[in-house]
Amino acid sequence: MATLVYDFTQGNKDQKALLGGKGANLAEMTRLGLPVPPGFTITTDACREYLRTGTEPAGLADEVTAHLRRLERQMGRRLGDPDDPLLVSVRSGAAFSMPGMMETILDIGLNDRSVYGLAAQRGESEHSAWDSYRRLIEMFGRTVFGVDFDRARPSVDDPRELVASYQKVFREHTGREFPQDPREQLDLAVRAVFESWNSERATLYRRQERIPAHLGTAVNVMAMVFGNLGEDSGTGVAFTRDPATGERGVYGDYLQNAQGEDVVAGIRNTVPLQDLARLDPASYAELLHHMTVLENHYRDLCDIEFTIEHGKLWMLQTRVGKRTAAAAFVIASQLVDEGLIDLDEALARITGAQLAQLMFPAFEIRPGVRAIASGIGASPGAAVGRVAFDSGRATALAAGGDRVILVRRETNPDDLPGMIAAQGVLTSRGGKTSHAAVVARGMGKTCVCGAEELEVDAARRELTVGGRVVREADVLSIDGTSGKVYLGELPVAPSPVVRYFEGERAPATDRLVAAVHRMLTHADTRRRLGVRANADTGTDAARARRFGAEGVGLCRTEHMFLGDRRPLVERLILASDDRERELALAGLLPLQQADFEEIFRAMDGVPVTIRLLDPPLHEFLPSLEELAVKVGVAEALGKDPGSDLALLAAVRRMHEANPMLGLRGVRLGLVVPGLFAMQVRAIVRAAVAHRDAGGDPKAEIMVPLVGAVQELETVRAEAEKLVAELGDGLPVRIGTMIEVPRAALTAGEIAHAADFFSFGTNDLTQMGWGFSRDDVEGAFFSRYLELGIFGMSPFESIDRAGIGRMIRIAVDEGRAARPDLHIGVCGEHGGDPDSVRFFHEAGLDYVSCSPYRVPIARLEAGRAAVAGSASDTR
Ligand code: PEP
Ligand code: MG
Repeated sequence: MATLVYDFTQGNKDQKALLGGKGANLAEMTRLGLPVPPGFTITTDACREYLRTGTEPAGLADEVTAHLRRLERQMGRRLGDPDDPLLVSVRSGAAFSMPGMMETILDIGLNDRSVYGLAAQRGESEHSAWDSYRRLIEMFGRTVFGVDFDRARPSVDDPRELVASYQKVFREHTGREFPQDPREQLDLAVRAVFESWNSERATLYRRQERIPAHLGTAVNVMAMVFGNLGEDSGTGVAFTRDPATGERGVYGDYLQNAQGEDVVAGIRNTVPLQDLARLDPASYAELLHHMTVLENHYRDLCDIEFTIEHGKLWMLQTRVGKRTAAAAFVIASQLVDEGLIDLDEALARITGAQLAQLMFPAFEIRPGVRAIASGIGASPGAAVGRVAFDSGRATALAAGGDRVILVRRETNPDDLPGMIAAQGVLTSRGGKTSHAAVVARGMGKTCVCGAEELEVDAARRELTVGGRVVREADVLSIDGTSGKVYLGELPVAPSPVVRYFEGERAPATDRLVAAVHRMLTHADTRRRLGVRANADTGTDAARARRFGAEGVGLCRTEHMFLGDRRPLVERLILASDDRERELALAGLLPLQQADFEEIFRAMDGVPVTIRLLDPPLHEFLPSLEELAVKVGVAEALGKDPGSDLALLAAVRRMHEANPMLGLRGVRLGLVVPGLFAMQVRAIVRAAVAHRDAGGDPKAEIMVPLVGAVQELETVRAEAEKLVAELGDGLPVRIGTMIEVPRAALTAGEIAHAADFFSFGTNDLTQMGWGFSRDDVEGAFFSRYLELGIFGMSPFESIDRAGIGRMIRIAVDEGRAARPDLHIGVCGEHGGDPDSVRFFHEAGLDYVSCSPYRVPIARLEAGRAAVAGSASDTR
């Protein structure tokens, strides 16, 4: 087997997969000459082998021995030496950060004899040495043997007695003595860290963060240094820039005379890092120097853990630090100004998901406002409303005009109406893949889940948190980005980034807006994909254009059949002869034409793809149940149901068991005479009118739900005739959606009748998976996500292996048949960051998405191009 143990002097930062993030960065700091306590890292290979076989891999023990000897030589002390012991810490460290999920054991090497040696070493009372020993027994016992020390006697003052008490509990629980052999302590601790990879909480965390389960953790063994040896000692954390805003400066906390775990436990209050300048000027100056070295080396914000032992600074950890979305943009732009990275790299360091977060309104948190609980920010946004503890109550409150927060222990499909009625959803259980999280994200609703401090008692209609009771109809504010929950109504501020897109703010107004402007401008210069918007009205189209859309990729004409046009549409559907139908269509035509003119005006000079009517006609009629009840009641009362009777007959006639697979799209156009012709007329007349008014219309007609080339050919022939007749020489392109699997698989044939393709990935996903897009997300996706059948809803992010494969086939065969075929996508996936990357790789010409996602698609298309060119040159 390959080398299983690396000294800190042997590795480097690029070996995260083998040495874990912590180990790789400790090695890097050592290489840079920073003061890192000596130590070594046991590789993730060793962990995987242990987890596979249940025993330490051959050769591991010998390698550990060799590295331990070297460590002892370096430190001039032996592990567990009764007179002058070396102590070590054993810490986990996976390739991806999993904070607090796995185990750490400190002070290995202490036993009944070396505890005296430690006291002598420290040259002070034995108290602190015995306290360290007690901590070792507790951490080791809990981690390695699962001992519960609640029965020990923490009230005892004398630490020696306390050690005896802990040893007794250890003995009673395990049936053996606390191991006195330091090497045995070390080996068992390493084994426990390996095993903690598969602990319940680590497994859950990985699932939530989509970290692969097979990676395993590395184990870092490091000489202990102590921050709790008096006023000239201490411990702290430092950030090279503010991780909240990105501002330059020194940020962090320091705790005098303490060990790292005291900071984490929050037992004592820390002081701002700047205070260290007063407490220990030499260490502070040295720390600042190391921070600059690290920033210049990593060319990014670093966070650092350090300890000072008797005035000597030790660097215990560093990594590229986590940051808020706002800080990510600001820092990327600053690093370009500072010459540390170029604009391409800056683009690679920010994401569309971060930009999406910046586009939500946010709470204005005034000083002193504290959250009452904190959970997982599962779906971003800032929601305020009255508490409802069940779905019925939520809908009732909403019906009365109230804003609502639905609070549940966890949600299930029965809660759907309440979720729809609510501004936000709050649960005390479950993670990012829970039902609440999945459904809320799908609806674009704010959601905080897994706020475990909340005791939700739906039966009593109250929740308790920290001794406080919140009752039904009390007001809560929940932040779906940070996961924080506040009592009462917090003020909400609109996103400055959205105000910039709307043209209400100049880029120079603040650092964040300036950074967003800079990154998007650069993305625009790099991207190959065009970005259009899905917009059905002039207002939406105008907004999309302000947000940077280069045309409309999908205008769904069905909304134009609603509202005050319903009577006309009903006349069309109920028409008993050609004349009645033609009259109804003639009434609709000018209205449609006006709609299209508005959109052509908003999108002057750029393409507007108008899709012919798609949904089944019965969607424009009243519901079967409601109408049947209405007619039944009238008849029971001996009243004349009037026109409702004919309407009911029509609804019954048109009722379909699977309307999504029924008479819709091109099928409807081929069955209802004159319907598509009316729409084509309206499009062509609107384009001519716009041109005559001095404009530059670029109309494209798109046929939905095509599965066979003959369908498209038939519609195309009729449309071409009308264009020739009415278009006065205007070029109008005619293309099709590719959203039925058969269309994707026969794209080579269909391309002969299409000027363009636009993938309807909503339907393609629905029909490719056989998932009803209106039902399954709320019904069983949370279970599928838990089982890992997919990592994300395939309606949110494109399923590359299945649906993506159909797309690739259609692109290849379509272009082979017709090289100038223009290809885009207009399903929801067109605005999903990961899917945009796929569409870039698959060679599409453009993506089309909702107006608010246009900037995200622009950014991601730029990032995809930069990533593509980076891999080309590799
Ligand atoms: C699609 O199916 O992806 C699409 C864009 O059409 P609709 O969502 O209107 O069915
Ligand atoms: Mg569709």
